[in-house]
Amino acid sequence: MTGPRDTDVIVVGAGPVGLLLAGELRLGGARVTVLEQLTEATTESRASTLHTRTMEILAERGLLERLGPLPSGGPGHFGGMPLDLTAAAPGHRWAGQWKCPQARLEAALYDWATELGARVLRGHAVTGLCSRPDRVEAGFIELGAAPAVLTAAYLVGCDGERSTVRQLAGFELAGEDGAVEMLRADLAGIDVPNRRFERHPHGLATAFRWPDGTTRVMVHVHGSRPQRRTRPPGLDEVAAAWARVTGEDIGAGTPVWLNSFDNTRLQATRYVKGRVLLAGDAAHVQMPVGGQALNLGLQDAADLGRKLAEHVTGDAGSDPADGPGGAPLLDSYHDTRHRIGAATLTNIQAQARLLLGGPEVDGLRSVFGELLEIGSARRHLARAISGLGPPEPG
Ligand SMILES: Cc1cc2nc3c(=O)[nH]c(=O)nc-3n(C[C@H](O)[C@H](O)[C@H](O)COP(=O)(O)OP(=O)(O)OC[C@H]3O[C@@H](n4cnc5c(N)ncnc54)[C@H](O)[C@@H]3O)c2cc1C
Repeated sequence: MTGPRDTDVIVVGAGPVGLLLAGELRLGGARVTVLEQLTEATTESRASTLHTRTMEILAERGLLERLGPLPSGGPGHFGGMPLDLTAAAPGHRWAGQWKCPQARLEAALYDWATELGARVLRGHAVTGLCSRPDRVEAGFIELGAAPAVLTAAYLVGCDGERSTVRQLAGFELAGEDGAVEMLRADLAGIDVPNRRFERHPHGLATAFRWPDGTTRVMVHVHGSRPQRRTRPPGLDEVAAAWARVTGEDIGAGTPVWLNSFDNTRLQATRYVKGRVLLAGDAAHVQMPVGGQALNLGLQDAADLGRKLAEHVTGDAGSDPADGPGGAPLLDSYHDTRHRIGAATLTNIQAQARLLLGGPEVDGLRSVFGELLEIGSARRHLARAISGLGPPEPG
């Protein structure tokens, strides 16, 4: 028996994945409410690269017009070794990679999803979850108001790598914690030469001057382990690492943004558990190398949106969500996206080893260098990064 529900689907998190999913659900005719804990969208510098499959998704929904012209991201790389991503699909309208700051993408997705009728409630933090046979209930706290509950047929956790939904619903994670760390900063008032994945005896350094005159530096010191951080690294730490690797002093710079990341590789063993599902960083935690973290999540949302909308609006809406084979469309979301997620995380893990390893991986780099001279090998890796899957046989 089906009880009264406030909406068809609750999406937790108005990041890029939650917003794309909300719009997709509306296109499929489902009612959707997004609960987002932040009162304002973040303007933090995060991912900035869009790959071919994501560009296809955005183009099909008219979202590229909203973003305006996007500059090419130039040739790509595999673990710091040059790899021209146009090799994935030569002649494809969106072959290669494209630059778009994540905040700009999120703003366009927000406008699109809300114009389609998605209800986005900011300042609403989900703190409780109860999955019942006929509905799911999300407990949330709205700033300055009493705790409240919203009910729906399904709830999707798009609430990022520290997902509250994942924890509350008891999803299992498999994989490994990070073993190597990279520090990153956007600094004003420094003047160091641009360089891409420059290897030094003590580590790796990258510098890139943005059009606004700030410089993005990324540095890894060989042997540095991930810290249990509750806040970003300080300028002193980034400057000390930079000096150790390059010998240059950037300590007088003004930090605009400071960040660190590591090569943690974790994936939910199931993306669907009864009436609760996961997508994006909530489903998989990975090193953000080459923009693959953002692109993987957006592609989850595109796959899930159509299937979940069809499930909740169609005859399948009798909601046999529990039990094998009960909801084939949702099982197919798990099967498809879990498989692709696992392959992408393995790909990223290999890249992390090549990128951040010291002299002990020189042999591996040399073998990869030879393989990257072979057209079919380049195409295979470029297709994986571009989200296009393995080449068609023949
Ligand atoms: C500092 C930083 C730098 C990054 N750099 C890169 C990069 O260079 N390249 C790359 O590919 N990727 C990068 N990433 C990763 C990329 O940003 C993510 O892959 C992408 O944002 C995933 O989107 P998402 O929607 O799954 O999760 P998120 O963008 O994390 O969005 C999750 C949303 O859920 C909300 N939320 C969380 N908990 C709750 C709750 N209990 N109730 C309500 N709302 C909640 C959060 O406020 C947030 O808005 C970076 C991430 C960070 C944090």
